Amino acid sequence: MKAWRVYGLGDMRLDEIPHPTVRPGWVVVKTRMVQPSITECQALQERSHFPIDVEKLVKEKGPLQMFGHEFCAEVIQVGEGVKNLKVGDRVFRIRSQAACHECPLCRAGYEERCRKGPSVGFSIPGLLAEYASLPADNLMSVPDSITDSEAAAMQPLASSVDFIVPAKIEPGDTVVVLGQGTMGLGILQVSRAYGAGKTIVTDLRDETLAVSRKLGADVAINASKTDPVEAIMDATGGFGADVVFECAGGSPQSGLSGTITLSQAFRVVRESGKIVQVAILPPGVMVDLSPVHQRGIQYLGHGYVTTKDLNYVIQLVVSKRVQLASLVTHILEGLEQVPKAFEITSNKAKYKNLLAAQVIVSR
Ligand SMILES: [Zn+2]
Repeated sequence: MKAWRVYGLGDMRLDEIPHPTVRPGWVVVKTRMVQPSITECQALQERSHFPIDVEKLVKEKGPLQMFGHEFCAEVIQVGEGVKNLKVGDRVFRIRSQAACHECPLCRAGYEERCRKGPSVGFSIPGLLAEYASLPADNLMSVPDSITDSEAAAMQPLASSVDFIVPAKIEPGDTVVVLGQGTMGLGILQVSRAYGAGKTIVTDLRDETLAVSRKLGADVAINASKTDPVEAIMDATGGFGADVVFECAGGSPQSGLSGTITLSQAFRVVRESGKIVQVAILPPGVMVDLSPVHQRGIQYLGHGYVTTKDLNYVIQLVVSKRVQLASLVTHILEGLEQVPKAFEITSNKAKYKNLLAAQVIVSR
């Protein structure tokens, strides 16, 4: 079969490799649609230590099948003992790590928190390929009413719920979302379904902010034109936000804010409010956590979605309360278009895309 393999930073090649085989608890899937994630685009382009150092890995192991964890794929073969899926199901990946079923966390019943199991696209081959073999309990099927394009975009949406769950939004809470990339747009939409009252978003692109307004943002601030801290404090009557999602931090080399938005988050959150760190910050970054003690701020990371949460997210997409299809601007045809999808997804300002560019691999 054909699969993209990484030979070094910025170097991917379409190779002919053996067809994957099925094993107990796993399924073999045929890729229907795949899209690169922002994290993958960054990992391919610049030396990064999270989640993987491409240069180091390739030096140690040679050309590697990496990336491709955001996909819609069809189950074509089911391993022994698999109960949640059947041949013909269309699936997406539900968690960054599958359960190992052996570690202390798994044995304690916290399989969804396991950090030792395989990670699709990172520790095991993902779907920048015609076929893949995947752990069945890391997948969930979607109903017929969800398109391949929506299913491929479900993974980052489910991931956004990972960050909404620990925030425990209460009905009417004022929610601020700093950054309107894939995660920011997802969090804006899903937080409303989880009870957010007033929603305030920031970004640097007017076209994106116009979309945010259409998706329900009450206040949309262009942080390159207006001081976002002042504007948010004005919009909350000087009170600050109950919950702030920081979705724009990260490597400035990749067009992200460094720690600027995190420092904004601490200035716009109300006393004893919550900040959720969604963006991946550069390694070794220094953060002043004194407000955590002095102002009772809760500084949170991701939580763990349950099957109930995932079913709710699917329902939100089915009922169109959460928009995915209308946000996909670039759909390419054929596995050979994968590098183009990386190029588009990495350069949103140039291509004016909102979510990742998608690639149709089979129909
Ligand atoms: Zn485990």
